[in-house]
Amino acid sequence: QTTHFGYQQVAVDEKAGKVAEVFHSVAAKYDLMNDLMSMGIHRLWKRMTIEMSGVRQGHQVLDIAGGTGDLTLKFSRLVGKEGRVVLADINDSMLKVGRDKLLDKGCSGNVEFVQANAECLPFPDNTFDCITIAFGLRNVTDKDMALRSMARILKPGGRLLVLEFSKPTNPVMSKIYDTYSFTALPFMGKLVTNDSESYRYLAESIRMHPDQETLKGMMEAAGLSRVEYHNMTSGVVALHRGIKL
Ligand code: SAM
Repeated sequence: QTTHFGYQQVAVDEKAGKVAEVFHSVAAKYDLMNDLMSMGIHRLWKRMTIEMSGVRQGHQVLDIAGGTGDLTLKFSRLVGKEGRVVLADINDSMLKVGRDKLLDKGCSGNVEFVQANAECLPFPDNTFDCITIAFGLRNVTDKDMALRSMARILKPGGRLLVLEFSKPTNPVMSKIYDTYSFTALPFMGKLVTNDSESYRYLAESIRMHPDQETLKGMMEAAGLSRVEYHNMTSGVVALHRGIKL
């Protein structure tokens, strides 16, 4: 697709199109693949995210790029009847799998499902006590724009948590992880979903994602304060947290 904006715009459109294609393709088997690929460890990374969120009864929470809703499910139990959790995602296939799963688990009443792009979130300023984006930011084309959009809709005192693949802190782990991503992931993708290409894309997007310090700087530039991060599994994953003052 060519536009008068030139090559940069073509690259932007290509990335968004590729991301859409990948998640439409993997939606049905997403949860199974997550467990297989991470050997179940993604559950621990998510548990840590919930613990660091400070979310409690009555809070308003946004789980953007929430996909199949693992975090939303946990938040909906924490915020209770007085609170609200919005599960938002750009991809309707992922949202549909998430909605069906949460309804099956008896989660209703305080959860809303919204199709939205993280770059331009359709909520008023100062709405949420907490926003999470788990394994989503690396798929967003304009990450700075997305971080600014999240900061805008956080209430003063609200927290943004970014859970994402990051840079392993030791070279041996880095080598093992790189090899694993580019061989085992596409292989498992082929076996389970007959789609190795999507999992090759996922491995590439992990390699391209900003490291811990770069993401910290991006969050500060977006207007968040007291930004800190916690490495998990030797930095394979990092949880960044910032506060809107
Ligand atoms: N948060 C879930 C989890 O941790 O299991 C799902 C993560 S999944 C790897 C990434 C999700 O990001 C997909 O559901 C995808 O549709 C969504 N996504 C990608 N680009 C997005 C964007 N610009 N805005 C909102 N969601 C986006």
